[in-house]
Amino acid sequence: MLVHIKDIIKKAQNGNYAIGAFNTQDLEITLAIAQAAVAQRSPVIIQVSESAIKYASLKAITHIVQTIAKNQAGSIPVALHLDHGKSFLSVAECVKAGFSSIHIDGSDLPFDENVNLTKESVAYAHKRDVWAQGELGIILGKEGLMKIEKRELEMKDCLTDPGEAAKFAEQTKVDTFAMSIGNMHGMFVGLERLNLARLKKIHAKVKLPLVLHGASGVEHGEIKKAVKLGVRIVNIDTEMRQAWATALRCALQDDKKEIDLRKILAPATAAVQQVVEEKMKVFGSAGKA
Ligand SMILES: [Zn+2]
Repeated sequence: MLVHIKDIIKKAQNGNYAIGAFNTQDLEITLAIAQAAVAQRSPVIIQVSESAIKYASLKAITHIVQTIAKNQAGSIPVALHLDHGKSFLSVAECVKAGFSSIHIDGSDLPFDENVNLTKESVAYAHKRDVWAQGELGIILGKEGLMKIEKRELEMKDCLTDPGEAAKFAEQTKVDTFAMSIGNMHGMFVGLERLNLARLKKIHAKVKLPLVLHGASGVEHGEIKKAVKLGVRIVNIDTEMRQAWATALRCALQDDKKEIDLRKILAPATAAVQQVVEEKMKVFGSAGKA
C-alpha cells in the first residue's frame, strides 16, 4: 500500500534500522522492488530521478508506482520519493503529482545558495504535507572520481562538515539529511570506504534521519555499522542495474530465437528482485512490515 514516507521512517528511527530507497524508471523494476518488499515483508521507498522522469514521463511513472503499491504490494508500506531534484520546479511538480517526499539537491552550490534553494523547497513541500531531504557535501561519482584521480579534489575536501551540517539542518528545516562520508555514486568496490568517525560526528550534531547515497558496492559490514550510527535511508541503484544487465545479456545469449519480451525480461526482473531482497536483510528492514 502507498504510505507517507514519515510513517516508515519514524518506525525505522525507533527500531534502529534503515529503509532501502531503490530507483526505478519502468514497470519491470518497480515490480521487482515491490515483489522483494512483499517477499521480505519490508517497508520500502521507491524513488525516481529527474532522468527517470524524463524517460518515462512524470504521470506514467507516478501511476506505475502508485498502482503497484496499491495492488501488488498488498499491506506492505511503499513510499514514493524524488531522488536528486535539482530545481524548485522539479520539486513542485513531484509534490503536485503525489510524492510524499522529495530530495532537493543543492550540494554543488555554495553553502548560502544551497540553504536558500533548500529552504524554499522545504517550505513548499511542508505546506503540502510532504517531507524534504537536503544534501550537503560532495558525493563523488564517476566525474568526481576523475577529479580525485587528477588531484583536483581530495576525499577530505568532499566530506560533509558536521558543524555546517548542523547549521544547514537548523536553517532549512529539512526532514532527512544526505551527507558525504566517503560514499560515491556508482560502484567502486574497494575504493569506497565509509568514514564512520565522520558519520558519528554528524549524527551527534544532526538529530535527523540520515541518508546514505551511492551505497552500491559498499561492503555490507560497513553499511550495518552506518545504520547503527543513524543512517535510516540507504540508496541503491547501480547494483540493481548491473544485475539486470547481466541477466538480460545471459537470457538473450541462452535463447537467440526467443522474441517474447516477457520471457526475455523475466530473469532480469528476478535478478533485480534478488539484489533488493538481499539489501533489505542488510539494512534490517526485512520482517518490519
Ligand atoms: Zn544519490
